[in-house]
Amino acid sequence: MGLQVTASDERRVLGDAPTSILIGGEWVPASTGATFPVEDPSTGKQLAEVADGSAEDMVHALDAADGVRAEWAATPPRNRSEVLRNAYETMIARAGDLALLMTLEMGKPLADSAAEVAYAAEFLRWFSEEAVRIDGRWTVAPTGGSRLVVMHQPVGPCLLITPWNFPAAMITRKVGPAVAAGCTMVLKPAESTPLSALALGAIFREAGLPGGVFNVVPTSDPANVGAILGDRRLRKLSFTGSTATGQSLLAQAAPGVLRTSMELGGNAPFLVFGDADLDAAIEGAMIAKMRNMGEACTAANRFLVHESIAGTFASRLAARMGALRVGRGTEPGVEVGPLISSAAREKVAGLVDASVAGGAHVVAGGRSLPGAGYFYEPTVLAGVEPTMVTGEIFGPVAPVMTFDSVEEALSVANGTPYGLVAYLYTRDLERAVQVSEALEYGMVGVNTGIVSNPAAPFGGVKKSGIGREGGHAGIHEYLETKYVALKMSG
Ligand code: ADP
Repeated sequence: MGLQVTASDERRVLGDAPTSILIGGEWVPASTGATFPVEDPSTGKQLAEVADGSAEDMVHALDAADGVRAEWAATPPRNRSEVLRNAYETMIARAGDLALLMTLEMGKPLADSAAEVAYAAEFLRWFSEEAVRIDGRWTVAPTGGSRLVVMHQPVGPCLLITPWNFPAAMITRKVGPAVAAGCTMVLKPAESTPLSALALGAIFREAGLPGGVFNVVPTSDPANVGAILGDRRLRKLSFTGSTATGQSLLAQAAPGVLRTSMELGGNAPFLVFGDADLDAAIEGAMIAKMRNMGEACTAANRFLVHESIAGTFASRLAARMGALRVGRGTEPGVEVGPLISSAAREKVAGLVDASVAGGAHVVAGGRSLPGAGYFYEPTVLAGVEPTMVTGEIFGPVAPVMTFDSVEEALSVANGTPYGLVAYLYTRDLERAVQVSEALEYGMVGVNTGIVSNPAAPFGGVKKSGIGREGGHAGIHEYLETKYVALKMSG
């Protein structure tokens, strides 16, 4: 299937999509028999009904994960690697259908969904290669005699909670390393995008993953995870989502002293210095802002531009943003889809209105689009003050503010409780190094608007999170370090 889709493609892909709960390798209805609707955000119409997992279903899924915990941990790394490789191959073979399913439930343009499916699959390939490289250490104690042996073992059953904005990649970024490490898991996907999650469950099943290793429980009531967060069989929580939800989950994980990986919100600054290559900065700004319609924790949230070029930057960015084609993600040529929900669009509109009331002015866009679907115009705001953008925008809005000195730029950039990713554009190598080192962020993009890469450690500092996903660090989130002291007589 190419990037041109028909109504019959949509029907076929939806008809093939699993809508039940996956527990112990079996597709089952919810214990209550309940279902919940999945909506197309470009039309507001219902796409499917999905089994609505109850608290009891969460417990059953943990029973299954715990039941195969020892067996999976003891499965040779090569076998775990091969399952991941099979799942990678299957994802690539089905990329067209997976992308269409994603566009239908999440709204992003088909080309973006195809890019996400490829990115998501790469985590499986990367961690299939990591599964056989889990190493340890063997040293002689500094005083001689004892040998100190350090090994890494799977953490145990994990609860994975994922967001709707990257319905496949945020799952494979957790499931890939968990499977590679020898962990078993219960996934609770976001309620807006359960279809992609269940499709991944089906792919792993076909790829030869034993039943019970990867259980998928969609639910309309995320609080149902509370039924297993306090269960002593659960050993780890990995979450991607908003900081507020992350804080509440951390509190719930505290009594069990669970290992946690938290990928939370951001407030990414995008710094453009006076010597920057302006063409490249505009190109990077379009990617950093508009990838995923701005619905990404990595999305540039504050454009900080040196005052000598701020006017030119804002008008050039406005010309590019204003020319973007907005529409249903399945239509050819569409570059910007709808926001995920009516509430999400209202939040974006409210932020724009508040900034304008505070003295900012609209250089492009600035309005919700009429009709069905939650569309909002790509928007550029100029004359923005740092105090106007304190939270994540999560929409296609680019606020431009100015700075005078490097110190001022750094002070504004770091003046937030968040610290996920920052971007900077300069041709001065020394400045690039100094500013990268001074930015209080887990990731920095230098002369690039995208940092995500399966081979790199993704994650934030401060209120943006704990832990890293991807890269060599990614598998260690699912491994415990064990030290064995060997007493030697000589
Ligand atoms: P967003 O505001 O982007 O939807 P959330 O942090 O609310 O971000 O959602 C991310 C994930 O967290 C989703 O899977 C959602 O269902 C889940 N979630 C939201 N609230 C809770 C909660 N109280 N307990 C557990 N999971 C939750």
